[in-house]
Amino acid sequence: MDEIAADPTHPRYQSLLLRHRLEEAEKKGMLAGSAMIAHGRGEAYDYLLGEQTIPSALQATKAALAALRGASQPVLSLNGNVVALAGKEMLQLAAVLECPVEINIFYRTPERMEALLSHLEVIKSSEGIDVQILGAEPNAKIPGLEGPRANCTKEGILDSDVIMVPLEDGDRCEALVSMGKTVIVIDLNPLSRSAKMGNITIVDELTRVVQNMLDLLSQPMQGNGGPFYDNEAGLTDALRHISKKFSAPDA
Ligand code: ATP
Repeated sequence: MDEIAADPTHPRYQSLLLRHRLEEAEKKGMLAGSAMIAHGRGEAYDYLLGEQTIPSALQATKAALAALRGASQPVLSLNGNVVALAGKEMLQLAAVLECPVEINIFYRTPERMEALLSHLEVIKSSEGIDVQILGAEPNAKIPGLEGPRANCTKEGILDSDVIMVPLEDGDRCEALVSMGKTVIVIDLNPLSRSAKMGNITIVDELTRVVQNMLDLLSQPMQGNGGPFYDNEAGLTDALRHISKKFSAPDA
């Protein structure tokens, strides 16, 4: 890491740190060619949100946790960017929720799968985290999708009732919703197809969301406000927050 990125007092430290994680992941062959573009789009929205967890995003995070905790077969779906940015924290989250993670990537190649699996296995053993990692040997397909991106496992994504899909592509999100699952999306872009498709969309940066979830899970359980979550209201609030930025720079 260069000097600026290694300095926690630098005002762009967090952003530089995440970019650095992606650069390292890229060198290990974990990412698709479009990974940096996807991250850049996220960064732009994060800037507009003030690089913070807005109250409606925290509310969505709590609703998502309630859904995951109340699920009979929850699963956390991981793609390349998610493993690169928050692999350890996603495994920690899965351990607390006692559910598996499943690697499910859009551009599936044996080399990328191997790079992602071995990265997670190293974290698992060095951190002593006991979590099942699925996805290496797909044995089922997500109905309505074509090609390798439909691949999944029966014991993971296919049979899950609640699934968290951070940074998911809109098509696959739609297919999962059509299967009748409760789909939790993490996406900084409140206008993306995934954000609109999801049942509970958290408009916040991935690493902040996962940390918030881990913090919330370490506190005594509180009421969750019931099973209904108004996703459209959450997205509208995020857009309102962004538009306030244009009229008042410090909003
Ligand atoms: P869709 O198909 O849902 O309309 P898209 O084509 O924009 O979306 P992708 O490029 O597949 O989607 O995914 C990137 C999405 O992930 C973007 O919407 C971006 O805002 C979001 N994103 C990128 N990095 C992060 C991050 N660290 N935290 C949260 N969201 C992120």
